[in-house]
Amino acid sequence: METKREFLKKLGLLTVGGVVAGAVSPAIAAGSKGKLVAPGKSVGLQLYSLGKELTDDLANGLKKVAQIGYSTAEAAGYGNGKLYGVEMSEFRKMADDAGLKITGTHVNPPMRKYTKENMGEIADFWKKTVEDHLKVGVKTVVQPGMPEMETPEDVAIICEVFNKAGEIAKSANLHWGYHNHNGEFQKRIVKEEDKGKTTNRWAPAGDVAYDLMLKGTDPKLVFFEMDVYWTVMGQNDPLEYFEKYAGRFPILHIKDRLVLGKSGMMNFENIFNKAYQNGLDEYYVEIEGIRDGMTQFEGVKLCFDYLNNASFVK
Ligand code: MG
Repeated sequence: METKREFLKKLGLLTVGGVVAGAVSPAIAAGSKGKLVAPGKSVGLQLYSLGKELTDDLANGLKKVAQIGYSTAEAAGYGNGKLYGVEMSEFRKMADDAGLKITGTHVNPPMRKYTKENMGEIADFWKKTVEDHLKVGVKTVVQPGMPEMETPEDVAIICEVFNKAGEIAKSANLHWGYHNHNGEFQKRIVKEEDKGKTTNRWAPAGDVAYDLMLKGTDPKLVFFEMDVYWTVMGQNDPLEYFEKYAGRFPILHIKDRLVLGKSGMMNFENIFNKAYQNGLDEYYVEIEGIRDGMTQFEGVKLCFDYLNNASFVK
């Protein structure tokens, strides 16, 4: 028997469906691949979630992602001008055949320390990366790894490099963004004049690296793809950031400790509500190593079902 909560959830979906279709419509409609997808929803997946289960049989793996109900995906396998070892155009064909749009990609430049001397080399790397990804039809190129930084001067160079990457992407009609882990919140950058000053353990010295990157980059050139799980792991509240830096987070990584909604440490209803108010356009599910004998594909499906059934996800 369905619970009152489930019944109310369905009512929520019915209302949305009715508005979208302008008439009485079923709570959920069959997607292009026959999967039941709630009307108006588009759920994305970061392909990193599948690891070897995807790369062992790429073409079929992409089909399975679409069959679960995902409509978009963000890649994470760029190297040597290829994606997951196949030519960009061939990868696009595989995704097209699967009915999956590859809307984004995660790429790290080969150097982790940015200097005045290697800035040009990094810019060349982004030019080539953008050029290659145009063949796949992505809209966004995102850097998921934190460069090395210790001083305010390091941060200034990083922001300059990020702005330049954003400019390169923009000139090809793409958007360039940065994806965080927890380190960006734990890393503090101390100004020379503040070194050695006494602080208490609740307020360590220095500025939060993530904030410095938000403040130091041009909002017209650099967006931030917040990974909400890693933000919480960095002991921060995603909602505070959405409000404080409204419009900077058009895309999110929706991640939990394991399967979405299971840990109790992520309030996704609050996260989505606040993110929508502050400019959220799309999001990608991400899940890392699954336990309890589950496959990555099984975990990825449970995450899809969670968001597909959630009335707070539009
Ligand atoms: Mg992530």
